[in-house]
Amino acid sequence: MKLALDIGGTYVRWEIVDKKKGKEQLRNIDLQSFIEDLIKKSRITAVGISYAGQVCNNEILSAPNIHATIEPEKFGIPYIIENDLKCAVLAEAKFFNTSSITALYSGTGLGSASVDQGNLIRGYKNLAGEIGHIPYKKAPFRCGCGKDNCIELYASGSGLQKWADYLKIEATLKNEKLYKLYTEALLYAAATTLTLFNPSILVLGGGVIKHNLGIIEVIQENITHYAPLFALREAQIKLTQLEDASLEGVKILLERLP
Ligand SMILES: [Zn+2]
Repeated sequence: MKLALDIGGTYVRWEIVDKKKGKEQLRNIDLQSFIEDLIKKSRITAVGISYAGQVCNNEILSAPNIHATIEPEKFGIPYIIENDLKCAVLAEAKFFNTSSITALYSGTGLGSASVDQGNLIRGYKNLAGEIGHIPYKKAPFRCGCGKDNCIELYASGSGLQKWADYLKIEATLKNEKLYKLYTEALLYAAATTLTLFNPSILVLGGGVIKHNLGIIEVIQENITHYAPLFALREAQIKLTQLEDASLEGVKILLERLP
């Protein structure tokens, strides 16, 4: 049996493929021994991991939003580990049946990934699409990556929390100031990904967007003010229809392991 894991900034979601699913808060568990227990109990033969951090050639490079690290080489069975957005866009490409798509997800962090001509756009170290850490505006606090001007400081759940702490207000998009900071930054991010990657579909997902469904219309209605018209030609902006695209994507990758 195979085990698929989606390790995000807040939760780990897991599935013994086509058998059993679960979800745990990261702060409640020791991640390494939690996974080792699952492997032992269910006689797992291969593990696939979607990871909310920078991953290259099956190795974790860094993870600004995750404090729980793992050592998959200690599991003692074949494993595959991939960046969570790269996993998600594979599942989105399958769902929309397209070979040209960019996923832009705003959850704990802000990330993107693209499939072009049917292939993942990886970059030299598999870091292509790290939209959350492009320079945007100086903030009065720092990002997990060490910089203080990342767009993730505005267009993500962790960014909203930092602004709420700083302004001593509740971290909710019902607050007008936070709503403006957030939607403005997300429009910049959406326009940037459309312009850089020229996908036929830009699909939006992630916890913040899923819990505030009106945001997709704000992006659709206002994108023409942010992206050049040529980048919008025949491009569609859609809301994800997948409950956990990263987990679905890592299951696609797991099919490659025996
Ligand atoms: Zn950053």
